[in-house]
Amino acid sequence: MIAKKAIGLPLKGLRLAIKSGDTLLQTASTQVTRLKRLLDQQMDNTQAQPTAVRGYLNDAHAGERDVSMSETVDIRELEFKKAPINLIPAAVLIATPIAAAVITPWYLMTHKVSLPVWGAFGFFMTWTGISITAGYHRLLSHRAYKAHPVVKNFLLLGSTLAVQGSAFDWCSGHRTHHRHVDDVMDDPYSAKRGFWFSHIGWMLRNYPSGNFDYKNIPDLTKDKVLQIQHKYYGLWVIAANVGVVAAVGWLLGDVWGTLVLAGLLRLVLTHHFTFFINSLCHMFGTRPYTDTNTARDNFFLALFTWGEGYHNFHHFFQYDYRNGVKWWQYDPTKWLIAGLAKLGLASDLRTVDDATIKHAEVQMQFKNAHKHLDTVTAGGIDIPHALQNFQERIKHEYEAFTQTVEEWQALKAKAVEMKKTEFADRLHEVDDKLKHEYAKIEEKIIEHNNNLKVAFRSIGHKQHAA
Ligand SMILES: [Zn+2]
Ligand SMILES: [Zn+2]
Repeated sequence: MIAKKAIGLPLKGLRLAIKSGDTLLQTASTQVTRLKRLLDQQMDNTQAQPTAVRGYLNDAHAGERDVSMSETVDIRELEFKKAPINLIPAAVLIATPIAAAVITPWYLMTHKVSLPVWGAFGFFMTWTGISITAGYHRLLSHRAYKAHPVVKNFLLLGSTLAVQGSAFDWCSGHRTHHRHVDDVMDDPYSAKRGFWFSHIGWMLRNYPSGNFDYKNIPDLTKDKVLQIQHKYYGLWVIAANVGVVAAVGWLLGDVWGTLVLAGLLRLVLTHHFTFFINSLCHMFGTRPYTDTNTARDNFFLALFTWGEGYHNFHHFFQYDYRNGVKWWQYDPTKWLIAGLAKLGLASDLRTVDDATIKHAEVQMQFKNAHKHLDTVTAGGIDIPHALQNFQERIKHEYEAFTQTVEEWQALKAKAVEMKKTEFADRLHEVDDKLKHEYAKIEEKIIEHNNNLKVAFRSIGHKQHAA
């Protein structure tokens, strides 16, 4: 999520440092790419142009869609294989970890670092990391809450410190990730292309899936502050990472120590902690809410990612301001947003109702139960008595659950209808009644959940119970 242009960020920043207006390098690189394509086409002696084949992205090419689907896929895959290197992002992403690995231990062995400098390291780690999760991710990409301008700008500056691309690039890429999750062609950091690609590889080359057109962020492109951040991104990156960090170092009386720890080391750690969300959070962990994509819930990854480790929940309910939805789940970003709301600095926190969340969990439990039964009965041999009982219980419970869901849907339809037809002065009364009926449905869903837990326990499968 972070990043394609996470890296594109420094790229653009440096462009700006050379010339305001990010067109120079972009134009040159476009020309080189075009020339390369032209040469490739001549050499391959093929009539189909990659741009035309990718016409699914653009209706202007509708007339050229006579290439078969398999040829399209093949040619798009070829584009992936031939993707040119993203020079500046690749240089930054490779050079900074090496520099941090060499300079940090050397500096710590040869210099004494004061406690306040370590404090600055902790502060910048927190500011940068939580700005990505509470700012770029939950506020801007998902609109999960509204923030006071002071909060928004503080998080925007922290996100700029993270060197993960402008808000336009980051959020456009992230919305594409959610929309096309796991698609090898259209998910910018598809986990289906493996750990390396989803972690960092997707930023090292100019892959077709990484070219964002910003059509999916109309709400952000009209934001004046974000426009300025995008336009002068490179300058902002340098000002924040060198100017602000060095200024803090000067105040603490140790400019170089602060630059090494709160600048370089903090930058590299924050990069990879964020990258974990795209890679490891799509590989390791549980799937309590859906198994229709690779996203996982993982407590250990939540520790490194300011609560974003509950990625299975997030992919299923992306507009919820919480990722760790249970009160006990480690999600400092959620706590920060809730705290800001208490102070009047955040509002309109969006949440999915408990019944919907529980419904998703119970559905996954049924799915697991059916999968388990399919496996044990596949051989056609007699199944043990305990499993027969389990099978009966699941069947019975599933029928009851289907009934509850039908009641629930009917209630929702009724609520919509009533709100349309009732007089305004009776809405309160109606809402109270509906609230009571909703509460009863929720109780029933929780009961199904508990019954399933008991059923799973009877065959020794505690792990399936949510
Ligand atoms: Zn994801
Ligand atoms: Zn997201």
